[in-house]
Amino acid sequence: MKKLNFYAGPSILSEFTIKNTADAVMDFNGTGLSILEISHRSKEFQAVMDEAQALTKELLDIPEGYEVLFLGGGASLQFCMVPFNLLNKKAAYLDTGVWASKAIKEAKLFGEVDVVASSKDANYTFVPKDYTIPADADYFHITTNNTIYGTELRQDPDSPIPLVADMSSDIFSRKIDVSKYNIIYAGAQKNLAPSGVTIVIVKTEALGNVERAIPTMLNYRTHIDKGSMFNTPPCLPIYSALQTLKWYKAQGGVDAMEKLDKLKAAKLYDAIDSSKIFVGTAKPEDRSIMNVCFVMKPEYAELEKQFIEFATANNIVGIKGHRSVGGFRASIYNAMPLESVETLINVMKEFENKI
Ligand SMILES: *Cc1c(COP(=O)(O)O)cnc(C)c1O
Repeated sequence: MKKLNFYAGPSILSEFTIKNTADAVMDFNGTGLSILEISHRSKEFQAVMDEAQALTKELLDIPEGYEVLFLGGGASLQFCMVPFNLLNKKAAYLDTGVWASKAIKEAKLFGEVDVVASSKDANYTFVPKDYTIPADADYFHITTNNTIYGTELRQDPDSPIPLVADMSSDIFSRKIDVSKYNIIYAGAQKNLAPSGVTIVIVKTEALGNVERAIPTMLNYRTHIDKGSMFNTPPCLPIYSALQTLKWYKAQGGVDAMEKLDKLKAAKLYDAIDSSKIFVGTAKPEDRSIMNVCFVMKPEYAELEKQFIEFATANNIVGIKGHRSVGGFRASIYNAMPLESVETLINVMKEFENKI
């Protein structure tokens, strides 16, 4: 029986994505070959890459002057590729969680890093708003959704300098003004595809402004010049990503996803706020619509394990919170149907009624 998948990543994918990927593993587009074994230089795979890039541009309304890359190495490799390619003297970073601080650590290897604000002292339960972005920095790096803490920045900030964003866990969940960004990157395993590929949107004009030598594989220019096929790309995850992109388009694009995501999140937060045993951990104004974090109220703390067991018995998996926060985290990414969120809410209510 198919379980209700609330894992934070790798995470739920649409049935359309999984089914089409499974079919292509057996026979890729009638080629008589599996997607696992066909050459990335074949015209059939080239068509997959071309369509995945074109659909990303269409869905995110990406203006001229930007390239879409599908790279290996995860979002974590982008923590170093971004400063390698863009940081001349100084960069500004907003510290909103573990992923942001890992990005900061890498940037420090390349130059001065101005951490404009941090919510670390509050265990990252909110997104700082009171800060000044230095006008003389090369870029301002943000993490739009903080997967572990369930906080999110749902607008493109106003910035005197170009933005760089880690959108790993909320890309395709809203319209973005791409023109404000030099780089947007996202590991695929939260809202797009199985792990193994990272989508990177690069403003070509932003490149070529650093003095240092950049190793070939870490240079965005290499991948742009070779159409994201300088070396063998992660073919299977890219094929899956294309299926998800097609599914997004069929659902009505990112506006439709946002509408559904907001509805799912509102229902779940309402259930948490009206519960006598559960309480949310993120500041209400910064709550994520992708990762919903909550705990037992202190007087019910000993029931935590029991609730996980009850949820598991009801076919729900992946709601244990990250070890640094504890409690529960329901990741309700784009592919999560409303009915699954409603089931979780019912299970929470049932548990509350029987204790
Ligand atoms: C999961 C995640 C990452 C790490 O991604 P990898 O692909 O495992 O390197 C980075 N940033 C955010 C916001 C994430 O959610």
